Amino acid sequence: MVQSNYERIIEKISKASGFEKEEIERRVEAKREKLSGLISKEGAAQVVASELGISFENEKLKINELLPGMHKVNTIGKVINLFPVRAFKTKKGEESKVVNLWIADETANIKVVLWDTNHIGMIELGKIAEGTTVEISNGSMRDNELHIGSFSEIKPSKETLEEVKTEKIIRKKNISDFKVGDNTSSRAFILQVFEPRFFHACPECNKKVTQEGEAFSCGQHGKVIPLKRAVSNIILDDGTDSIRAVLFHEALLKLGFSQLEDAGKFAEERENFLGKEMVFTGNVRNNSFFNTREFIIEDIKEAEPDSIINELEKQ
Ligand SMILES: [Zn+2]
Repeated sequence: MVQSNYERIIEKISKASGFEKEEIERRVEAKREKLSGLISKEGAAQVVASELGISFENEKLKINELLPGMHKVNTIGKVINLFPVRAFKTKKGEESKVVNLWIADETANIKVVLWDTNHIGMIELGKIAEGTTVEISNGSMRDNELHIGSFSEIKPSKETLEEVKTEKIIRKKNISDFKVGDNTSSRAFILQVFEPRFFHACPECNKKVTQEGEAFSCGQHGKVIPLKRAVSNIILDDGTDSIRAVLFHEALLKLGFSQLEDAGKFAEERENFLGKEMVFTGNVRNNSFFNTREFIIEDIKEAEPDSIINELEKQ
């Protein structure tokens, strides 16, 4: 069972301060009440930590100890995924660069975002590559990402991490606590199911293809004979909040639809899912068009009575 971010932060504050976990939780609740619930539990815990004078500046943290809201954090991890350097222009019109990578240790993995051109230079020169173990100091957490700016440091480590956790880390969360970048799973009710839209997808990579006359081409795979794929939105609610979720073709089939192209049949089958509680796993992204969070669903499971009982027993 995965510990929630909140449980981990309470444990850390408790250890660092010497107060019992219950006492820390009482303070967090008091803080939230004072702020009329406008702050998340994790956020309130950060405030309580700083009021107690706790900082993690001089500690080297394991990756699963890096929590949203933390600043000046130090960690070490092996680069398991390195994305191409991207150039962009700042608002002032200056050329700048950014690069995303994932690092892992034996506890977890995390997305790291590099903004400093000197740091990025080490990647361009191959001093930091996939497989390199890196030491990071003075990084900042933005939601669930570790951001490395010009006041931070990243360098190859003398240490080499061998066994690291490369699987996606899925954290169970309430919808109200969803943050952009989360890989998360949530038990929620289906409030609404919208009719699917269709698009042409590359048979190789499933990405949307562009059409010119009768010809279709994929940015990566060139000319292809496309597949017709469906995408639909549903609204999920777990009692803490609701969110718009995006279900692509496979996810719609996983949900239990058998007919996507027949609008009448779709409307009929939709009735089976409205109000149903299920477990949804996916990735939280920002929808830049609506400027809201949305939940891209990768997996759907029945909310089995057994697992409900297990969870009740754990509480
Ligand atoms: Zn393709």
